[in-house]
Amino acid sequence: MDNAPYPAGLLPEDISRAYGLDKAYRGLQVFKWIVKGARSFADMTDFPAAERERLAALLPSLYSSSVDGSLGDPDGSIKLKIRLGDGAAVESVLLCDHEGRLTACLSSQVGCPMACAFCKTGTLGFLRNLETHEIVEQYLHLSAIRGRIQNVVYMGMGEPLLNLAAVRSSIAILTHPDGFGLSKRKITLSTCGLVPGILDLAQNGPHVRLAISLTAADERIRNELMPVNKTWNLAALKDALLVYQKASGDRITLETALMAGTNAGVDSARAVAAWARGLKVQVNVIPWNPVDGLPYHEPSRAEVSAYENELERLGLTAVRRARRGRGVAGACGQLGDTLKADQD
Ligand code: SF4
Repeated sequence: MDNAPYPAGLLPEDISRAYGLDKAYRGLQVFKWIVKGARSFADMTDFPAAERERLAALLPSLYSSSVDGSLGDPDGSIKLKIRLGDGAAVESVLLCDHEGRLTACLSSQVGCPMACAFCKTGTLGFLRNLETHEIVEQYLHLSAIRGRIQNVVYMGMGEPLLNLAAVRSSIAILTHPDGFGLSKRKITLSTCGLVPGILDLAQNGPHVRLAISLTAADERIRNELMPVNKTWNLAALKDALLVYQKASGDRITLETALMAGTNAGVDSARAVAAWARGLKVQVNVIPWNPVDGLPYHEPSRAEVSAYENELERLGLTAVRRARRGRGVAGACGQLGDTLKADQD
């Protein structure tokens, strides 16, 4: 068999087919071993020895990627640099909130082509999409640190809706009831606002929780900060979100990374509230995390509070996002610093 596929990217029935397993249930056995963290077919002790040997010869390691560095934050978050099979690298983060709840923040692309002006990843350019197994392996690498992680956010490097096929299959694997068994409600996909992808998700699922990097609800400011807005403006985005909300029935999260002097004023909060009318939303207010070389500034506490109060006054739920992972530059918009050495 040429180029045996990596099983972390396959559902049980596909594993059986891909590896020519003699009995259909063997695919499910392999699937369960991967969930348990097996690293090699040789670990699968409920397989006949000859079959284990045959499979291990086809694929000596179950993983295509490896952990190539890690950084821990005093808040309990850990960022991993993951080296992929072709030598490229991505970052993934294990976020730990104040109640000890763990969330895996996964990357979907190597770099990102969307070029949002305030985002570190956007400065790296774009190399390629990740494959399904490369996405699931990030979850496995993070789970190896502190055990099973119940929450997943596709908020790492890349725009997940530009790699929807692989993201979709990774969600099918992570939610499979005989495997990781994650609830779709514990999975959040974050997009900068790719309208065709949102409509595709609305029509074809999975109806995971959707988060939008809104940042600003003023066309001029959003055009400046997020080039995607020049193709799908705020009106088109809202129409797509109404469709998604109707299909999923869920509240949508709007993320606003606030930068002093750019979008952190109360007038910006008013614009967000006016734009969101008719949508069921929660606004995650994220004080912008500093990134070397980018010309933005953190807002003051007073500015952030005034922004939140204005949203609340206008009837929206505003949640201040704790700066989890900030100490490892694993917070929103900061991913990519450990990859710089790769580019130099
Ligand atoms: S914010 Fe998201 S979509 Fe925009 S450049 Fe960064 S990773 Fe890409």
